[in-house]
Amino acid sequence: MTCDGIVVGRRDIGENSCFIDILTDELGVVEATAHGASKINSSLLSSAALFSYSTFCLNKNKLRYTINSAKPRFSFHEIGADIEKLALASYFAQAVKFCTPSEQEQIGEGRDSLVRFFAIALYETLHAGETRSLEAVKAAFELRYSVILGFAPNLVACHNCGHYECGRGMYFLTRKSKLVCADCLNPEFEGERVLLLPETLFAMRSVVFSPLERCFKFSVSANAEKQLAEIAEDCFLYRTERSFTALKYYKDLTKGEI
Ligand SMILES: [Zn+2]
Repeated sequence: MTCDGIVVGRRDIGENSCFIDILTDELGVVEATAHGASKINSSLLSSAALFSYSTFCLNKNKLRYTINSAKPRFSFHEIGADIEKLALASYFAQAVKFCTPSEQEQIGEGRDSLVRFFAIALYETLHAGETRSLEAVKAAFELRYSVILGFAPNLVACHNCGHYECGRGMYFLTRKSKLVCADCLNPEFEGERVLLLPETLFAMRSVVFSPLERCFKFSVSANAEKQLAEIAEDCFLYRTERSFTALKYYKDLTKGEI
């Protein structure tokens, strides 16, 4: 079968071959053998590289897939030139590998293409630092990916009164993933909540409700970015119920601890 996909994992076997994990819309994450892919004259050399976006032609033999041929569409290999970008992209790859079932179709009515989303996330990572920071890209990934996984936060309006905004501010209840305006917040409510900066709420709505190609295209001040980053990461990790080693590495790296 033929499908577009992005390499999200790679393990060398022997001298010249490797197993690669390919993120596809048709099959979820699929592991395939790329025979001879490490040879310098191999036609699979660039397509079997991590973060390569290609059209793969796969053969299935018994329970295993083998790459028959591949045509590169876009290469994100330049991400590897910047260690922070590489660390962040590795976290994204680990997240999709963990959250995407293997050999299960990921496309459906009204559903975003996972491959397209991942390609956009890699593109924005590659170009981070030009118009938006790596932290903003990370937050947008976590928030929008939560939506794709079916954990969309309810950001339309106050859960209680239905108002879109409130002069005294809007709270985001992080464990319930919903908004409550300051007028409606029960003073005795003791759950976790964040009083959102208006800019943060605007950015969150933009990430969640925009068409896929626009979901990373927002700009925020440093304060709002910090708030957005904390909320997005917290929500994503809470819903996926796990930690990611690549995330820890990225955070240690950006904190200057490595
Ligand atoms: Zn309200």
